[in-house]
Amino acid sequence: MLKLHHISKQFDDKVVLDDINLEIGTGEIVSLLGPSGSGKTTLLNLILGLTPMDHGSIIFNDVDLTHVPMKKRGFNIVFQDYALFPNLNAYDNIVYGLRNKKGSVSEKEVQEYIDFLELKPHLKKRIGELSGGQKQRVALARTLVTNPKILLLDEPLSALDGVIKESIKQRIQSIAREFKLTTIIVTHDPEEALTLSDKILIINQGKISQFGTPQEIINRPENEFVEQFIIKQL
Ligand code: ATP
Repeated sequence: MLKLHHISKQFDDKVVLDDINLEIGTGEIVSLLGPSGSGKTTLLNLILGLTPMDHGSIIFNDVDLTHVPMKKRGFNIVFQDYALFPNLNAYDNIVYGLRNKKGSVSEKEVQEYIDFLELKPHLKKRIGELSGGQKQRVALARTLVTNPKILLLDEPLSALDGVIKESIKQRIQSIAREFKLTTIIVTHDPEEALTLSDKILIINQGKISQFGTPQEIINRPENEFVEQFIIKQL
């Protein structure tokens, strides 16, 4: 279980996150949903350990990670632009992060993720030769081979459309189910959050507006903002 207690963050004199409390169960898919500038990416980066928090604590499976640096937390992220290396082929991108960690993940495990994401026919292709959905799958494989304890995804569907979007959505759900991997996703799209996640944290101006299952949010919006933000955009 991941627990965030009383987290706050300020950039200069602007409060970006204000007293965030949250508990996420193992294997749950949780979306961080809110308008542009509401603090979603800051919260994701803070969980990752990339951005330090001003106040509060972060506890994972009863271990206090508040002062544990990013590399030692064991979480990993797929960035919005995938951050793949264009001069390497798909396979070399996937194993890039393992180059100094020989023995931590076997080639058999790497191949399992490659099979799971149906990337075998594309391994020799350079990044520029891949479609958007294939790039996203390479980025997912590259992150999964590091065996993250939590998978963080920043707007994983925003660059995709139609059938590809639906297929990546289903893959994210099967990854969370198959590997019992807690998955936290940033999105600004209510429809995406409602169809993808077990729970949704709606955030507005750095504060939690509501945290609940898609059904709870649809059937019992707790305030005007949630009602407007969800209904207006569906
Ligand atoms: P978007 O959907 O547009 O990506 P968001 O909800 O992810 O937005 P954040 O990126 O977390 O929002 O930004 C929240 C606020 O914090 C914004 O006002 C942003 O300008 C500010 N901010 C984020 N990172 C920094 C930084 N490194 N320095 C100063 N201000 C920052």
